[in-house]
Amino acid sequence: MQTNRRNWLRQMGLALAGIGLAPVKDLALPPAATPVHRKPGDLPIRLSSNENPYGPSPMARIAMAEGVLTSNRYNWQLSSDLVSAIAVKNSVSDDNILLGAGSTEILDLVVRFSAVKQGSFILADPTYGYWTDMAQAMGLKKIAVPLTADKRHDLPAMLSAIAPDTRLIYVCNPNNPTGTICEREALTAFIQEATKKTMVLVDEAYIDFTTQQSMAGLVIGNKNLIIAKTFSKIYGMAGARTGYAIAHASTIEQLSKLQVWANGSISVASASGALASLKDQDFVRTTYMSNEKARKYTIEQLERLKIFCIPSYSNFIYFSLSDYKPDFFERLKTNNIIGTRIYEENGKWSRITVGTMEEMEKFISALG
Ligand code: PLP
Repeated sequence: MQTNRRNWLRQMGLALAGIGLAPVKDLALPPAATPVHRKPGDLPIRLSSNENPYGPSPMARIAMAEGVLTSNRYNWQLSSDLVSAIAVKNSVSDDNILLGAGSTEILDLVVRFSAVKQGSFILADPTYGYWTDMAQAMGLKKIAVPLTADKRHDLPAMLSAIAPDTRLIYVCNPNNPTGTICEREALTAFIQEATKKTMVLVDEAYIDFTTQQSMAGLVIGNKNLIIAKTFSKIYGMAGARTGYAIAHASTIEQLSKLQVWANGSISVASASGALASLKDQDFVRTTYMSNEKARKYTIEQLERLKIFCIPSYSNFIYFSLSDYKPDFFERLKTNNIIGTRIYEENGKWSRITVGTMEEMEKFISALG
């Protein structure tokens, strides 16, 4: 059986090589800043979506290629295996986990869950807000609480903003776009207080770029806390659309009722990649260290160019263009670099993703 499988892979590798694509074993060769079917020169440098420029991990790439071969079948066992592996990683039980197609599906489920009873939701401003149009379309009223002057969540103000009809508070930790982090003790106290009144969703998409421990452990004794996590960032699998929720078993049960097929949105290839990437701790460590190095370099260089940066705990940097005279966005465009936008007019705050060292050198020389 195993030999047949290997023959299959070998034949598939030869077939792919025949049509000019990489053989399966070569998929393990890092880094993959460039999709295999495009030439490096063709592509802009993408520093806009906080993706991992090195991933997926070598082990995940092979597992995904193998997963393609069995994609003619549903694979319920694989979903269960992934749930269990995630539970072990987060020191919780299988019934504390729900899989989604990216953490975006988890945000979608939580919003729909919160909107069953109409009311309001609270979030920081600015924060990761792609899901908020949908929340408002579902009839929830948005209450935005400004960040503090140093671009951190104003947790006391968010607590005070809770109204009798508040259904959800969203805390992005570390926060996108600012890269700031809530101090663990303060966030724990906030969760304890806020969840007496409403549901709290902590989005930990970028927590693996920090040394801070996840809030996952708190869900065991708290039905009003949901943690959203993703394989899109440190695991480098944004395009594979794999994420998950961690919550109290009874909360997971309620959320899962909003999925037509609980745990069923992830493809065999993506689930295989996610399982393999949980084992590939070398890749996680290398990504973490490469990000630290490129981020440090970028912040130093931006500040040399009079672009003030907020200390970042993530794979992106928030900076003010107030004192930078040239046209920042024109320079990015001329140099085929995709950045983001102005998030706050007051202070001309923008964000850049930390790419590879080579990409960040090109970014800096475009600005200098
Ligand atoms: N949460 C945050 C804070 C994000 O920045 C992103 C994407 O950039 C997401 C969630 C969605 O990620 P995904 O659906 O790829 O897991």
